[in-house]
Amino acid sequence: MAETKTIAPAQSVPAKHENPRRITAHNFQLAADRLGLDAEMRMLLSTPFREMRVEVPVRLDDGSLKVFLGYRVQHSGVRGPAKGGIRFHPSVEVDEVRALAEAMTWKTAIVNIPFGGAKGGIACDVHTMSQRELERLTRRFTSRIQAILGPYRDIPAPDMNTNAQIMAWIFDEYSSHHGYTPACVTGKPVELGGSKGREAATGNGVTFLIKKLMEELGKPLKGVSVVLQGFGNVGTFAARGLDREGAKLRAIGDYYGGIYSPNGINLSDLFAHQKSTGKIQGFPGTQPISNDDLLELECDVLVPGALECVIHRGNAERIKAKVIAEAANLPTTPEADEILNKKGVIILPDVLANAGGVTVSYFEWVQNLQQLFWEEDHVNAEMEKILGKAYRNVIDRAQSEKIPLREAAYTIAVERVAKAEKLRGT
Ligand code: GLU
Repeated sequence: MAETKTIAPAQSVPAKHENPRRITAHNFQLAADRLGLDAEMRMLLSTPFREMRVEVPVRLDDGSLKVFLGYRVQHSGVRGPAKGGIRFHPSVEVDEVRALAEAMTWKTAIVNIPFGGAKGGIACDVHTMSQRELERLTRRFTSRIQAILGPYRDIPAPDMNTNAQIMAWIFDEYSSHHGYTPACVTGKPVELGGSKGREAATGNGVTFLIKKLMEELGKPLKGVSVVLQGFGNVGTFAARGLDREGAKLRAIGDYYGGIYSPNGINLSDLFAHQKSTGKIQGFPGTQPISNDDLLELECDVLVPGALECVIHRGNAERIKAKVIAEAANLPTTPEADEILNKKGVIILPDVLANAGGVTVSYFEWVQNLQQLFWEEDHVNAEMEKILGKAYRNVIDRAQSEKIPLREAAYTIAVERVAKAEKLRGT
């Protein structure tokens, strides 16, 4: 197992040779065994419904032409239109997108919203591209995949390195082919029919669920020590939420490496430092730490909020956190899961922990279809209702069947999708 020990960008942390599809396949199998699914149903549920790979040629600002590769995988549309984000990252490849699409199927089923699962991505490095190049890339990609998108077919959303502006371009490009269609994509700017509360939703959901779990464990969030890997959209909003609840942020890592302070990081001062210097690194009172070492720090709650496969058999034994809340998708490999379960670490699995984002995407879609908009308090209250219910279902299932939370979550999800598949008939 390759293990890098450099102050490498958070996004280069995943153990090499890891295929995230192994994670979804393993977890699906545990659930399918538990439910006693037959071979035909297993085959139906584990094969992606539709996959598209497109060439995306883009004229760069220097006049040269670059060809990018883009993907959209629809894993399942059995419970509703396929739903899931689009990421821009150099490591995007088809198996990664397949795994992430499948994870969306289980995620939407756990929170019981009427969607299937999808994911898309383009292999590119946003850090080297201008806004104009990103716009051209997004529009060209959208025009190439628009035939398989649509409000009742497949609805993209933000994911790693994509944001409301990129969703606005997708909405505009899709609408230029099909007419005004705000429900074709979620995570849009509020000015273009985006939902209030969507931008913060994933991070808020992570905070809400960690709080619930810690209360269940008899440890209120106030004073709980947290280590956070990833300081993008999810990470920053989770940090804000956890800070608001009185948790102590001990270490934070982003693309360029981590910062660590055993006494806790003052978040508002950190944001001010980031605003003036453009980075979190060098924040006074903290010491630098690599993203690998950061994962192994002493803490109550570890929040991986970057790429998949960062917790693997090479480092799981050394992880000291008592709770891991998976803000990222698929951060833990099956081997790491087994080691951590044996150690008694409680894992709040990704398919539940980060489901706040897609839940508020669902509200955005509903608001777009009805052309009736909700206040932010209403959005947040409804999100907490849905997440709270899903959390209770997962905890109850885990307790009654004496299984880890991940296995319980996948069991509930696979059961729901299998039932829907059966009812629809094959
Ligand atoms: N990309 C996010 C996720 O992984 C959000 C997906 C969505 O809102 O459709 O859950």
